Amino acid sequence: MEYADFPTPEPKPGEALIRLRAAALNRMDVLVRNGWPGIKLELPHISGADGAGEIATLGEGVSEFKVGDHVVINANIGCGKCDACLSGWDNMCRNWHLLGETILGTYAEFVSLPVRQLYKLPDDFNFHSAAAAALVYQTAWHSLITHGNLQAGETVVIVGAGGGVNTASVQIAKLSGARVIVIGSDANKLKLSESIGADILIDRSKEDDWSKSVFLATGKRGADLVVDNVGTTFMLSLRALRKGGRLLTVGNSGDPKFEIDNRFIFAKHLSIIGSTMSHLKDFKTVMDLIAAGKLKPVLDKTFPLKDAAHAQERLWRGEQFGKITLDIG
Ligand SMILES: [Zn+2]
Repeated sequence: MEYADFPTPEPKPGEALIRLRAAALNRMDVLVRNGWPGIKLELPHISGADGAGEIATLGEGVSEFKVGDHVVINANIGCGKCDACLSGWDNMCRNWHLLGETILGTYAEFVSLPVRQLYKLPDDFNFHSAAAAALVYQTAWHSLITHGNLQAGETVVIVGAGGGVNTASVQIAKLSGARVIVIGSDANKLKLSESIGADILIDRSKEDDWSKSVFLATGKRGADLVVDNVGTTFMLSLRALRKGGRLLTVGNSGDPKFEIDNRFIFAKHLSIIGSTMSHLKDFKTVMDLIAAGKLKPVLDKTFPLKDAAHAQERLWRGEQFGKITLDIG
């Protein structure tokens, strides 16, 4: 990864050119940099799905925004025309793109995007908080609320204490009136999980089979939902669920291939529900809650844009709690 000059894009009709002030890192950035199977990228490529800044210029035909508006970007880019997009499920688009994955991203001073990808921020809202929120909160909201049908009073287990989606999931589950159990291996990160609302902490470095602790913490009933974005922990997650429980997954921080025992799924009436990103409606809902201060993104460390490679190393080593951001000045 190099810090270098690149031509400033020209906004096409319906687009806005955004002068970025902050970008946020996601695991996907490093996966793409390492070589994602099947992706054919034109090089040089610009990484980054998350960003916030000000509108610098507008393409033809844009009336919803004006120059100087503060905006945050929705990286989930549907075509707007296919049957999935027309039914409001743009994250299931047949010609779907993720900003920074297949198209030029936000580790940059400027990016030009269709204005339907933008959310107008209050003028005094922090750009780093906005950039840190966009991808992970929409992902967590769509999984927990839209697919997972999370209800007040339910118990949610979150496998992993430090990542952006997991910290967002803790807050969304608490806002929904759920009880939250966090599984982690780092005492400090577990303590931080408690500070953002986790009710019960389980240290997996002290108990390999944490599904037993979940069982005891739920009066021998099992959890209603498990958020498992590790993958290789699915067997423990399936054990930790009550009969009729739901396992939600939006990614895998562990190996993508692993074994599960099918008998747990049918005998306990379990559902395994996958999703990625969210649709425009969920993005708006969650950003309204962020702008209102009802959900507060957890910021880890900020690096200058030129040190993006160092920032990615911190992410890859798993040292962060919450989101790592880039300062674009
Ligand atoms: Zn589409």
